[in-house]
Amino acid sequence: MKCHICGGHLESTLSDLPFNLADRKVVIVREVPVLRCKQCGIYLMEDHVMQHVEETLAQVDAKAEIEVVPYAA
Ligand SMILES: [Zn+2]
Repeated sequence: MKCHICGGHLESTLSDLPFNLADRKVVIVREVPVLRCKQCGIYLMEDHVMQHVEETLAQVDAKAEIEVVPYAA
């Protein structure tokens, strides 16, 4: 798979990604499997990963301004 921006090589890696929720809360999802472009550094998420992240975010009961949740939850 190649980067759609620069055509560089994508490698699989794990990354902690922040997501903004309503009420200015931020949820950091740890160790999300992403594809990272070695050339321009952009991160891409595959559809099933994005779907799992959305399901994870939907279950987060964010009481603090910043919550950290594992991807695997
Ligand atoms: Zn790229």
